[in-house]
Amino acid sequence: MKKHNYSAGPSILPQEVFEKASKAILNFNDSGLSILEISHRSKDFVAVMDEARSLALELLGLQGKGYQALFLQGGASTAFLMAPYNLMKEDGKAAYLDSGTWATAAIKEAKLFGEIVIVGSSKEDNYTHIPKGYEIPGDADYFHCTSNNTIFGTQMHEFPSTSIPVVCDMSSDIFSRQLDFSKFDLIYAGAQKNMGPAGTTLVVIKEEILEKNGRTIPSMLDYAKHIKAESMYNTPPVFSVYVSLLTLQWIKEKGGIAAVEKLNNAKADLLYAEIDRNPLFKGAANIEDRSKMNVTFLLNNPEHTETFDALWKAAGISGLPGHRSVGGYRASIYNAMPIESVQVLVDVMKALESKV
Ligand code: PLP
Repeated sequence: MKKHNYSAGPSILPQEVFEKASKAILNFNDSGLSILEISHRSKDFVAVMDEARSLALELLGLQGKGYQALFLQGGASTAFLMAPYNLMKEDGKAAYLDSGTWATAAIKEAKLFGEIVIVGSSKEDNYTHIPKGYEIPGDADYFHCTSNNTIFGTQMHEFPSTSIPVVCDMSSDIFSRQLDFSKFDLIYAGAQKNMGPAGTTLVVIKEEILEKNGRTIPSMLDYAKHIKAESMYNTPPVFSVYVSLLTLQWIKEKGGIAAVEKLNNAKADLLYAEIDRNPLFKGAANIEDRSKMNVTFLLNNPEHTETFDALWKAAGISGLPGHRSVGGYRASIYNAMPIESVQVLVDVMKALESKV
């Protein structure tokens, strides 16, 4: 039996994508060769890269608007340093919103490049909410935020308006909801939650913001060089890019981000309704900032832990324990999670209520 996988990652992908990817490992496009052994310069793989780059922009509504999509390596953690390297001037500064562990990691890297202004932080409240009411200095080189805080289960539902470039880490909610993506100048997302296997990072960048900060940037960290090389500056992570393409095609077939978002809303509503209804549970994040991708919740009485854990394990659920910095439970309900699996969890929560 396939498990109901609530893990926060990596690689929570649709079953069809896993099946097509498995076939491509053995015989890619009926070529008699594996996707893992064809040349990345072959016509077949260049077509994969081109389609993945163009479909990413199409789904985000950014085609023909001065943006480029890249599939790079090094994870979102490398983007933490590539953003300041490419955008911060030698004597410049950047503004950051500190909304969780990953934002903190991005800030740590950016500090290596210049002054960092932390415009707002929810650290004192263990990141149970998104900081609000902050001001972004108009003379900073860019503003950086994290759209979804994977660990704490909070999500930005509004983004500030500012005249400076906006950089956003969308690792854990890319392609899950419709936004005006043209408000962002640089979006990056590790593939391994909503898009593909770990090993590639989608970077979507407005070309006009590049090559303006006067720094000499090592080639592999230079977005402009990757754009010139059409995301093939060095050997790309072929399998991760190919599987990401399969997922993007799956999203398009479903009706695009808007259709996927509708389903994501239904899943999140179902689960949060049970958390709020069931007297045994409480949500970990502030209601107005709740994430529709990572649902964090706690048992009101920790004495029920053993019984609850036995119930969800018996129901074929895996990956439910929360991150150590929050405790309790985290149900990651990425795009590929069917609503039927969410119903299984809700039923288990109800079963606990009737049992204790
Ligand atoms: N940003 C967010 C929001 C994440 O959830 C993660 C990983 O879970 C990262 C960054 C780090 O990504 P990577 O492991 O690709 O470096």
